[in-house]
Amino acid sequence: MRLSRYFLPLLKETPSEARIASHRLMLRAGLVRQSSAGIYSWLPLGLAVMQKIAAIVREEQNRIGALEMLMPTIQPAALWQESGRYEDYGEEMLRLKDRHGVAMLYGPTNEEQVTQIFRDTVRSWRDVPRLLYHIQWKFRDEIRPRFGVMRGREFLMKDAYSFDLDEAGARRAYHKMFLAYLRSFHRMGLTAVPVAADTGPIGGDLSHEFVVPVASGESELFCHADLLTLPPPAEVPEDAAAAAAEVERFTQFYAASDARHDAAAFARRVPKAAQFCARGIEIGHIFYFGEKYSAPMGCRVQDESGKSRALHCGSYGIGISRLVGAIIEASHDARGIIWPWAVAPFRVGLVCLQPQDDACRRQCEAFYAHAQAADIEVLYDDREERAGPKFHQLDLTGLPWQAVIGPREAAAGQVELKARASGARRTLPWQEALVQIQSPPPADFGSQAAGAV
Ligand code: ATP
Ligand code: MG
Repeated sequence: MRLSRYFLPLLKETPSEARIASHRLMLRAGLVRQSSAGIYSWLPLGLAVMQKIAAIVREEQNRIGALEMLMPTIQPAALWQESGRYEDYGEEMLRLKDRHGVAMLYGPTNEEQVTQIFRDTVRSWRDVPRLLYHIQWKFRDEIRPRFGVMRGREFLMKDAYSFDLDEAGARRAYHKMFLAYLRSFHRMGLTAVPVAADTGPIGGDLSHEFVVPVASGESELFCHADLLTLPPPAEVPEDAAAAAAEVERFTQFYAASDARHDAAAFARRVPKAAQFCARGIEIGHIFYFGEKYSAPMGCRVQDESGKSRALHCGSYGIGISRLVGAIIEASHDARGIIWPWAVAPFRVGLVCLQPQDDACRRQCEAFYAHAQAADIEVLYDDREERAGPKFHQLDLTGLPWQAVIGPREAAAGQVELKARASGARRTLPWQEALVQIQSPPPADFGSQAAGAV
């Protein structure tokens, strides 16, 4: 993509309403623009990141056999009256009437909708288990929308729903989701700690929030430090016992957010040197709720003996739009964003230092063409603009690689490569640079012997 043709409106000033780094950076780097409180437009750069996050989530959901579908944002109120949640949900629900006076609502979540679909189609024990999910906008009229997309009113969520014949089946679905979440967040470059959460009136031990430690987090996180470095599962076992054992590898450690923190248990179970306390932000929440919706809504099947049974269900959310903010909170410096490789909107920012210089421009155009042919996503700054603002924009927008070609590099057939995160740089023959930018900057990038030239 040529920057001269792209839509990347940067802000020079730090917006006064933005109190945390991710909110400031998302506005300054041209990722989003606010429409009204807690409601945002996603500009091309921000959307590209959100789509990469969604793609990772999608891959990991599909990998455990979850099936993607798409339910509407607007739901009939009657559906929520069936489950009894229409009155309970309170002011966070945006209620509307259509032209015929029918009560509707903008969905804050989809348990009722998916339960209705399932109940209307499924009859027999042979039709379960199933895992269904969608990635769809939600609306919650949060009393205090703040921190940009982190606590918005309109936000994008992946929500999955499991349907099983019995509790054992539901536990297996829950464990598989738990492990898929760890894999998803790890792939995005995040350290996410699974924390036992309140299960509400149903009780049991099957609710976890996934919390990322960041300075601006809304809650507090207390856990064993080993949880921060535990490798994610290499795969998600299909077998129930194997999945449970893999989950146990994580849940054996103490982890709680302030709502359920028990200082005495923390002191007893975690040696002083391993006690980790930080602020944290919730990026995912999984929940087993048994027959909570299936019983009142009549979502039943016949078991093998012909007996009718309400299904055992769970729901599993990931805040896709919140993740964009959370990743920035976890990965930025004073100059701007530092995108983890897997979610970077482009892999490399290419800067032409002197577009007026024929040789320089030709070399840049050739490098750009080669990179595109190799399927490397490049944002090519081909503008007639001073070097200072170009470098400023490169650092702010946080692409993992920065490639600079000035007249000197052009004459030698070289490219100066810089890793955004470490600041390490090397000047390489352009062919070698092309190979280098196909993978993330290696840890020893700057210390490698400086090219063959
Ligand atoms: P919170 O405790 O942060 O209010 P929640 O418990 O109400 O969240 P869930 O219903 O579990 O949220 O929703 C699943 C996920 O959706 C959350 O883990 C979070 O990542 C995301 N999410 C929830 N509310 C918002 C919001 N207002 N803005 C952005 N993302 C949100
Ligand atoms: Mg929650």
